[in-house]
Amino acid sequence: MTIAIKKISLKNILQQFFIAIIAVVVASLLRKFLLGSLENKVVWITYYPAVIAAALFGEFLTGLLSAILTVLIAVYGWQFFSTSPFINSTADWISLSVFLFNCIIISAISDYSSRQRKKADKAKEQAELANRSKSIFLANMSHELRTPLNAILGFTELMQLNSKIPEEEKKNLEIINRSGEHLLNLINNVLDISKIEAGQIKIDISSFNLNNTLNDITQIISQRAEAKGLFLKTSLSKELPSYILSDELKLKQILINLLGNAIKFTEFGNIELNVSAFENKQTVSDLLKIEVIDTGIGISANEIDRIFEPFVQVGNISLTKGTGLGLTICRQFTELLGGIIEVQSKLGIGSKFTVQIPYLQINNTEIKQRNYQLIKSLALGEPEYKILIVEDQLENWLLLQRILENVGLKVKVAENGADGIEAFKTFKPNLIFMDIRMPIMDGLEATKNIRQSENGKKVKIIGISAHVFEDEIQNILSSGMDDFIKKPYHFNDIYGSLQKHLEVKYLYYNNIDSKEQGNIPLTAEMLKRLDDHVLLELKEYTENLDNVKLYELVERISLKNKELGNILHYYVSNFKITEIFRILKQIFINQS
Ligand code: ADP
Repeated sequence: MTIAIKKISLKNILQQFFIAIIAVVVASLLRKFLLGSLENKVVWITYYPAVIAAALFGEFLTGLLSAILTVLIAVYGWQFFSTSPFINSTADWISLSVFLFNCIIISAISDYSSRQRKKADKAKEQAELANRSKSIFLANMSHELRTPLNAILGFTELMQLNSKIPEEEKKNLEIINRSGEHLLNLINNVLDISKIEAGQIKIDISSFNLNNTLNDITQIISQRAEAKGLFLKTSLSKELPSYILSDELKLKQILINLLGNAIKFTEFGNIELNVSAFENKQTVSDLLKIEVIDTGIGISANEIDRIFEPFVQVGNISLTKGTGLGLTICRQFTELLGGIIEVQSKLGIGSKFTVQIPYLQINNTEIKQRNYQLIKSLALGEPEYKILIVEDQLENWLLLQRILENVGLKVKVAENGADGIEAFKTFKPNLIFMDIRMPIMDGLEATKNIRQSENGKKVKIIGISAHVFEDEIQNILSSGMDDFIKKPYHFNDIYGSLQKHLEVKYLYYNNIDSKEQGNIPLTAEMLKRLDDHVLLELKEYTENLDNVKLYELVERISLKNKELGNILHYYVSNFKITEIFRILKQIFINQS
C-alpha cells in the first residue's frame, strides 16, 4: 500500500485541519453529553469513528491530525470529561500510544480506499466519455463515407451497362461493385451500432399494417432466395392483427438480417418464415413471435454463444461474406423493443432463430386508412371554423397551420400553455390542438385551466403527443382533452379529428383517383424540380424503405406541388418505392 504524496498548499492544510477539528469536537461532545457516565472507561469509543470519518472525508493527514488532537485532549483536557485525570500510570501511556498507532494505520487504509474509489470513478467517467465520443465520431464518419461510396457504386453499375466496355473489364467492374457493396454494408452496420451506443437510436413507435410490412419483406427476400435456387416458405398465423403499434423500421431490419443470413448460409433446401401472435398474460402488450428456419450449414454448439457479439463470424469463413454485425444489430434492436432473440442450431442440419417482441394492438376504429382520398377544401356552406394551435416548436406549428389553412380554416397560434389560455379567451376557437410538452406551462395544465374557465367546457381540445403508452394516454384524457393524436401525424389524422369532433365536411379531389395517378409515370424531370434537401430526404427514406417518413414527406411535397404529391403517393402506396429509388439514383449519378 502506498500513500500518495501530493503538493501540500497552506489552503489544503487549513482545510484538513478544519475537518479534523470538526470530527474531534463532534466526538468529544458525544463523549461528554451522551456517554458522560462512562468516566474513564472505553475512552476511545467516539474517537476511532471520528478519525476514520476524518480520513475518509479528508486525507491521511486529516486522520493523523484528528488522532493527535484526540491525544492532546486526553493528556491536557481530560478534566472536561472526568474528575480524575486520564494519565495515571504507564499503562495509560501505552494505551495512548496504541491508539495513536492504530489511528495511523486506520488513516492510511481509509485514505487508500477513498483514493482508489475516486480513481475508479474518474476512470469510469473517462471511459464512458471516450466511448461516447468514439461512437459519435463513428456515426459522423460513417455518414461521410456513405456519400462517395454511393457514387462509386452508381458509376460502376452504370459502366457495367455500357456496351462499349469489354467483357473482361466488366468482370473487374463487378468486383469493384461487389467490394463497394460489402463496404457500404459494413459502414451501414457500424453506423447502426455506433448510433445505438451513442444513445442516438430511439424507438419510434407508430401504428402500421403488419401484413403490408411482412409482404414488403417477403417480396424482397423471395427474389434473393429464388436467385440461389432456394424456396422461401412463409406462414403467417390467422390470429395476426392487421395493425399493430411497434417500431416498423426496426422490425423490418431484424427480419431482413435474419432472412438474409438464412439465405447466405444455406445452399440447398428451404427457408421458412413463421410469424404468429399470442397473448402476453403478464403485461398489457401482446407478443409477436417470428421464426426464421433454414436448412443450411448450422452452427456448432461451442460457437453458438458467440454469434451475437460484434464482428464474430464462425464456421466456414469463406462462405461468410458478411461483416459479423448483423446479429449484433438484431439483438440490440430486439432488446430496444423489449423483446428477446434466441437461436437453436445443429451443424450440417440448419438453424432456427426466434424473436419475440411485445406490441400493442390497436382496435379497428383507431386504424387510419393510409390510402385516403385527397381533401381539396371545406365543403360549400360550411361555417367559419376557428382553430387554435398551442405548440412551442416553430416547424411543428407551421406545418399544422399550413395543413389547416390549406382547406380554408381560420388559425391562430400560441407558443405555450399560458399564451394558449389567453388566446382561447380572445380568439374563441371551436377546437384547440394542444401540444403536451411546452415551456412555461404544459398542455395538460393549460387544458385543466381552460376547462375551469367560462366557455371552457364546450371547446374541443385535442392533445398532440409523441407518447403513446397507456399511462400517458390516461393522463392526457383525464386532464380534460377530448382526444389525442400521436406525433408524427398524417394530414388525415388532423382532418379526421376535425371531422370527428366538429363534424366538418370536406370537398375531395374526386377527379384524381389512384388509377389515374398510376397512369402518370414518375420521371426524373418531375423530381428534379424538388428542392435539394427534399430530394436528399426522399433518397434516404426510399433507401431505408421507411414508409412512415415517406408518407409524411409526400404530404409535405403535395402542399407545394399537388400533382407530384399525388403521383408519389401512388408509387409509395403501391409498393413502387424501388422505382422512385431507381430514378433518384440516376439523378444523383448525373449530378456527381
Ligand atoms: P454476418 O452474417 O455479416 O457474418 P452476423 O452477425 O449476421 O454477421 O452473423 C454472425 C455469424 O453467425 C455469421 O458469420 C455466421 O457464422 C453465423 N450465422 C448467422 N446466421 C446463421 C445461419 N442462419 N446459419 C449459420 N450460421 C449463421
